Amino acid sequence: MSEDVLMRAVDLKVYFKGEGRGAGIVRAVDGVSLDILRGETLGIVGESGCGKSTLGRTLLRLQEPVAGSIFLEGRDISRLRGAALKQMRREAQIVFQDPSACLNPRRTVRQILREPFGIHGMEGTMDVDARICELLRLVGLDEYLLSRYPHELSGGQKQRIGIARALALEPKIVVCDEAVSALDVSVQAQVLNLLQELKEKLHLTYFFISHNLNVVYQVSDRVGVMYLGKLVELADCAQLYEKRCHPYTEALLSAVPRVGAGERGERIHLAGEVPDPANPPSGCRFHTRCPKACEKCRVSEPVLTEVEPGHFVACHLAGDAT
Ligand code: SF4
Repeated sequence: MSEDVLMRAVDLKVYFKGEGRGAGIVRAVDGVSLDILRGETLGIVGESGCGKSTLGRTLLRLQEPVAGSIFLEGRDISRLRGAALKQMRREAQIVFQDPSACLNPRRTVRQILREPFGIHGMEGTMDVDARICELLRLVGLDEYLLSRYPHELSGGQKQRIGIARALALEPKIVVCDEAVSALDVSVQAQVLNLLQELKEKLHLTYFFISHNLNVVYQVSDRVGVMYLGKLVELADCAQLYEKRCHPYTEALLSAVPRVGAGERGERIHLAGEVPDPANPPSGCRFHTRCPKACEKCRVSEPVLTEVEPGHFVACHLAGDAT
């Protein structure tokens, strides 16, 4: 594995039992392979239910895959248990969408930021109070907040505390799962700027999950597009926006004025709803909504293929589109 690859997923599958009587197996992530390069921000976009958050959680082993492998710096972390899994968690952290839901309301900021050091038995090995103050400064907050409870903080301050907690143990990779989606637009911009600054200062790698293409466009080096548990397109950010090949990517981008309008015409409205992931369509999973679907698409599943260096597409028409 190249030294540039920090994390690798190989044919990752995550299935759930569906809810209700007679519910089938939900294929939340269904055979995803990708590399996350050291120092990059890999953005992942797709509609709600496409499996992007499940993929992010699975990379950190917060969700168990039913098949496939995950490598971190070449080590297979897919089946780690006990102390080895705990050690791995220091290296790979997550920032969640809703800061209110992930901060314990009965704990002060100081207690919240102390938790990771206690869990990993580090309290006697370092000056934790000094490190907590350092973390607060890193995320642009003042020390007077240490005695405050989450309900006394603004949404932006809470998310900064969530980021500080994720950075406490100096991880190599951070999964940002809709990390700015719950924030007001002006606060979103501040938190995005903060994430960018921290990435450069601490040499971080981000796996940045969002349904918002504008946000992904702002922060990502490469972008992956997911549909119904599958990765359907993956490319360098500029490459994807200029030469997108997959009709689903085309439709998503046509809805974003800043990057879609005026280049390839009008907004593309997709017909119908996202199909049930417990009962995905045959052939190409997108064929029930794809404006370019043909008979082959109904029976034959396209494979993710490199159509030009670094640009991967899963569509039977991909060669024609480049
Ligand atoms: Fe559309 Fe067919 Fe391509 Fe799927 S394989 S995206 S249905 S054209």
